[in-house]
Formats: sequence, C-alpha cells, structure tokens
Amino acid sequence: MTDGSEAERKMQFLFALRSRGVTDKAVLSAMEKIDRGAFVQGLFSGRAYDDTPLPIACGQTISQPSIVGLMTQALQLTPRDKVLEVGTGSGYQAAILSLLVRRVYTVDRFRRLTRTAEELFRSLDLTNITTFTADGSHGLPEHAPFDKILVTAAAEDPPGPLLAQLRIGGIMVLPVGQSDAVQSLIRVRRTEEGLHYDELRDVRFVPLLEGLGKE
Ligand code: SAH
Repeated sequence: MTDGSEAERKMQFLFALRSRGVTDKAVLSAMEKIDRGAFVQGLFSGRAYDDTPLPIACGQTISQPSIVGLMTQALQLTPRDKVLEVGTGSGYQAAILSLLVRRVYTVDRFRRLTRTAEELFRSLDLTNITTFTADGSHGLPEHAPFDKILVTAAAEDPPGPLLAQLRIGGIMVLPVGQSDAVQSLIRVRRTEEGLHYDELRDVRFVPLLEGLGKE
C-alpha cells in the first residue's frame, strides 16, 4: 500500500472490497469499523490493508479481506443469529461477525492464537465473542444448534458434526477440497427436506487439521 492518509487508505480498502463483489452494506460497514491492522502483527503489518492473505503465528494465515467479505455476505446474517466460526486464526473474521450478530463462538486448535485473539477482542470491547481452544471439526455440541457456521480452513468434505449442529433453516459456508489444491467455497443450507449445496467460487485456505496444535 502506498503512503496516504488513514481516510484514503480506508477508502481504497473499501473500494477493493466492492470491486471484488462485497456489496452488502452491513458487511461493508462492519469491515470499515474493524481495523485489520490490529490483527496483523510484526513483519507484515505494513500490508494489513492490501487485499491479500498474510502470515500470522503458528504457520497460519489471516484471510484475504475480500474473501472474508464474500464469506460473511454468503452467510446472510441477521442480528439475532448465533454463529460458530471454526478457525479463529487472528480473530479478524470473528470480530467482523461480532458486529453483525448476537453471539459468536470461535474455535481454533492453537492455544497461542486463541489467547492473542481473546486479548484483542477484549481490547476492542467486543463482548459477544466466546473463544475456545479445541478441534473445531467436532463443533461445539454444548452450544449447538447454530444459525450459521463458518469454517475458515479447508476440509475434504463438510464435517458431519458441523452439519448436525446447524439449525434447520441455517447456513454453513466453508471451503472444501484438498489442502494443496484450489478448493471450492460452498454454501450448505439445512432445510426440513435436507441439505442443499451451492458452489460460490474457487478459494485457497490452510487445511482443517485434526487434534490440538502444539503451540
Ligand atoms: N478466520 C481467520 C483465518 C483462519 S486461518 C482469521 O480471520 O484470521 C485457519 C485457522 O484454522 C488456523 O488458525 C488453524 O489453526 C485453524 N484450524 C485448522 N484446523 C482446525 C481445527 N480442526 N479446529 C480448529 N481450528 C482449526
């Protein structure tokens, strides 16, 4: 990103989101309010407002802002929703969700990441997020069902426990496919009749792994 005032930087950031298909006003407004710079530390902080994924701790990545926007928009959130996010990472996506819904549960397999994210949520006064350190592919049965579920790491197939924890009428958005290849971002709707799938676009995410991380 070139030099410029903060207002200019914000305008460019929002312009990039719109030009890549993030058009939902509530989503754009939440993304305007949550400063991505707070979630990118160290070496890459100068690139926090570029529309690109960036490395974070534990060999993970903070997603590309336009993909965060498209996924958030695909969830068709309402203010009453209770949402589960699998893959807290930096906490950026959870922070955006927290401005749009009633309650966010976010889970990551790395304690180091959830601890940093929790501190950020506290410092930003985002009080409706609860953070867990666990293998999120099992979901959070004690807090289910969820109105919406967002998975920000790629599995080969939608994990069964997550589908089971989706409320009827609920939506889950997740990347599926091999971790070293291009994956498909899909949306699953659960209705009385069953599960309905649609494909949104090609994406690339880090893999959804089993068990707890070492850090
Ligand atoms: N949503 C994040 C980006 C996530 S990167 C953000 O806004 O910054 C994907 C994250 O998924 C990584 O932090 C990784 O540790 C986590 N992850 C991978 N497999 C997991 C699992 N089984 N359970 C929970 N988290 C997992």
